[in-house]
Amino acid sequence: KYDTARLQQLDRDHYFHPFTDHKALGEEGSRVITKAEGVYLEDSEGHRILDGMAGLWCVNVGYGRKELAEVAYQQMLELPYYNSFFKTAHPPAIELAKKLADLAPAHMNNVFFTGSGSESNDTVLRLTRHYWATKGQPDKNIIISRENAYHGSTVAGASLGGMKPMHKQGGLPIEGICHIQQPYWFGEGQDMSPEAFGIKAAQALDAKIQELGEDRVAAFIAEPFQGAGGVIIPPASYWPEIKKILAKYDILLVVDEVICGFGRTGEWFGSNYFDLQPDLMPIAKGLSSGYLPIGGVMISDRVMDVVNKGGDFNHGYTYSGHPAAAAVALANLEILENENIIQTVKEETGPYLQTRWAELGEHPLVGEARGVGMVGALELVKDKGTNARFDDKATAGALCRDFCFQNGLVMRATGDTMIISPPLVITRSEIDELIDKARLALDLTFEALHS
Ligand code: PLP
Repeated sequence: KYDTARLQQLDRDHYFHPFTDHKALGEEGSRVITKAEGVYLEDSEGHRILDGMAGLWCVNVGYGRKELAEVAYQQMLELPYYNSFFKTAHPPAIELAKKLADLAPAHMNNVFFTGSGSESNDTVLRLTRHYWATKGQPDKNIIISRENAYHGSTVAGASLGGMKPMHKQGGLPIEGICHIQQPYWFGEGQDMSPEAFGIKAAQALDAKIQELGEDRVAAFIAEPFQGAGGVIIPPASYWPEIKKILAKYDILLVVDEVICGFGRTGEWFGSNYFDLQPDLMPIAKGLSSGYLPIGGVMISDRVMDVVNKGGDFNHGYTYSGHPAAAAVALANLEILENENIIQTVKEETGPYLQTRWAELGEHPLVGEARGVGMVGALELVKDKGTNARFDDKATAGALCRDFCFQNGLVMRATGDTMIISPPLVITRSEIDELIDKARLALDLTFEALHS
């Protein structure tokens, strides 16, 4: 049905991909994905691949949901597009806003819609600064983030993010954003206990606030666990200490729920899992399970009360609250609810995945296996006794990722950290298959590195 060679040639000639070294595509070319069902992808040659990443951490309800296609179709017939600028609105976005207010932590009753997580974080930057300016403190405009965080690819998103290779391109970060240590025990804290390291990493926030001055700091932004940075789950001491520090100062807490939101941890939001009370909560991805692009920023009542005093918020996107995307998002949230998907992750499939995933921690190539809910990471090491990393950084990760792909599993490599984040609907037997394929890839990687 598909002429793979032709597609690959056209792809090489014309298609500039995100986060891809085009020289490295080489002879082999891109793998062309043509369809998907449940947790499986199919490529143009008919190979079946278990999608251990739910696309980009987003296809929470799995592929092939005809009811979502039907909702999009009906909405496009009824009202394919309208906006919500200048005192207009439409039913899908209104209903979705109400639903999100019901699902989010109790004090978050307001939402600003965007088209993506990156746009949500651009909105966060402007909204936090606008909030303090409206309160008469325009100089309270610095946002503190963390090294190795990922908050998107727009100028503000990549600046808020703490990824050095992104900062190198395009002269980032922009002014008024700074980064503190991440709570990455395996990578940076093994000379102390996870608990002690969690406190130390949190105290970097206090030190930074004192250095800058409380009256200069607008907000602290963080993912509940860092996703793209390597599924970095903070030690249990970290978030309680951060909360104590924020309570001392008048600074907004922005919890980036773009990955954690809509069930990834076995709770509706990472904020529920880690017991956080955010002022702002960027969302995207699982909001529509990726079926159509949509994101947003959930806003607490305390922030909204101030913003409402500031007149127009001169900000908005043509596709803010797009009717078809909003209708699909609403239907996606109903699927998550009606099929008890998040509860199942919390009580059944999540614990099962974590038990099976921990078994991979015994592999000679793996220094640590960690995870929460429906997400996991493996740290690949040269020496299991000392947890020493490979000198040639990211080679082992790339090898392992390629072996996975060849054997029908998508697993992501962030340097030498392997990551999974499968659709939340994955079953026990599909989890078994995922583990078997991951183990085979670890064996092949070990052999390749030690032969
Ligand atoms: N925030 C987090 C935590 C993310 O993981 C991502 C994307 O991976 C984003 C923001 C950016 O979202 P988008 O790619 O939809 O712009």
